Amino acid sequence: MKTVQAYRYALDLRPRDERGCRSHAGAARFAWNWGLARCAERYEAERKWYSAAALHKLWNAEKKTDPALAWWSENSKCAYQEAFRDLERALSDFVKSRNGKRKGRRLGFPRFKKRGKCRDSFRFGAGIMRCNGNAVTLPRLGTIRTHESTEKLASKIADGSARILSATVSRTAQRWFASFTVEVERDAPGRHARPGSAVGIDLGVKTLLTGVDDAGRVFEVAGTKPLRSSMRRLRKASRSHSRKVNGSANRRKSAARLARLHARVANVRADALHKATTALARQYETVVAEDLNVTGMVSSRRLARAVSDQGFGEARRLLAYKTGRAGGTLLVADRWYPSSKTCSACGWRKPSLTLAERTFACESCGHAEDRDVNAARNLLHLAVSGTERINACGAAVRPGDAGLAALNQEPGTAHAGKTGTASGKLAAVA
Ligand SMILES: [Zn+2]
Repeated sequence: MKTVQAYRYALDLRPRDERGCRSHAGAARFAWNWGLARCAERYEAERKWYSAAALHKLWNAEKKTDPALAWWSENSKCAYQEAFRDLERALSDFVKSRNGKRKGRRLGFPRFKKRGKCRDSFRFGAGIMRCNGNAVTLPRLGTIRTHESTEKLASKIADGSARILSATVSRTAQRWFASFTVEVERDAPGRHARPGSAVGIDLGVKTLLTGVDDAGRVFEVAGTKPLRSSMRRLRKASRSHSRKVNGSANRRKSAARLARLHARVANVRADALHKATTALARQYETVVAEDLNVTGMVSSRRLARAVSDQGFGEARRLLAYKTGRAGGTLLVADRWYPSSKTCSACGWRKPSLTLAERTFACESCGHAEDRDVNAARNLLHLAVSGTERINACGAAVRPGDAGLAALNQEPGTAHAGKTGTASGKLAAVA
């Protein structure tokens, strides 16, 4: 079974390498802006633009005749070509978003990139890309040492079970990374190590997640809340940054300090999410989570920081592929399924529940329980009642990307716990 996976390494750059990286990032930015200007002109006149291939042709003609572009040959031609591809994708995403064919936030027309205001990044789609234990080799840039070992990927490439498709080099704070997109041949996942095991998880604002499993065990994974704990330092750094004179060396230094703080926070969060989701996927064959409207929640200001801080969307993405790899499934309850408002003991539904109410108290049977535990218990019930339903609808339950398949279904066709039928099911379970 072939899957595509990313391998990311922090680079240990010599000054010469760093100049090369900056130059390539500048080339990619220039190509994006150059292509965008061409596309915007044509869009004004004809309501259409150029494909990446057409832009590449135009570019090849112009770079040879315009002496102002003579520097192009200092960088790999991939840097320009891949920037045109990115632009093509951004334009098509813009159209899809406008036609309602793309989920999430509405996208605007792509914008010009400004040095220092955009991400420094470029990609190689062809050429010599290798890794050998403690270094990577990239077109034009040559061999660059890495901070971590690249041995794992190197040996996979050596025995023919992996193939590098592309390499992206990007900068976060002051550190450069190379990320390889790799096609990996892996065994199709077998049966899960603990068949029949299931867990319901409630992604919380207070804790990272609360889970209840089929053996009745209740557990919590404490959130790292990295932003909140570092907020004081971040606030201080950004206040001091805002006082620095625009364009001064001090401002540049404080910007770097601020970026380092943000990068650290992101690392801590990513690490906590990886650990929690790996453990869940290993321990449980079926993981049931709710379908959070993450985009909607982030746009509500009150919840925005807490939600994006915990990385709900990322947690679900990780769970989907990790459960698949372990031979299990991620089931996603319908967005409108009232997991928090329903009594996990008798199925009674509370008409309204504010976020401030931390305990669920049932007015029908007297059951009282922590709100998140109650929600997780309801989701677990769906694992028991919902799996046959998903089976009956024809969607694969396992193995492989079954979790993703269930995720991608239109609401109401195969989601567990569609409003209305769910409470009946829960009553039957209770
Ligand atoms: Zn009840």
